[in-house]
Amino acid sequence: MSQSQAPSEIAYSWDDPDLCPFCMTDLDNPGAGFIEHLDDSPVCERGFETWRTSVANDMRGEWSG
Ligand SMILES: [Zn+2]
Repeated sequence: MSQSQAPSEIAYSWDDPDLCPFCMTDLDNPGAGFIEHLDDSPVCERGFETWRTSVANDMRGEWSG
């Protein structure tokens, strides 16, 4: 199943951990696969950095994948 969309720095959805939230690409696995995917996709990486920063600012949370 692949339902790729144009990569966006704004996450489409965080509902499915098997998909990259920024481009809806299927990930090999939800945790490490996502980190590897970010290495391949600068747009997604920037989006993730922005998201992580905003989350950290809001509630000092940490990504735990
Ligand atoms: Zn992506």
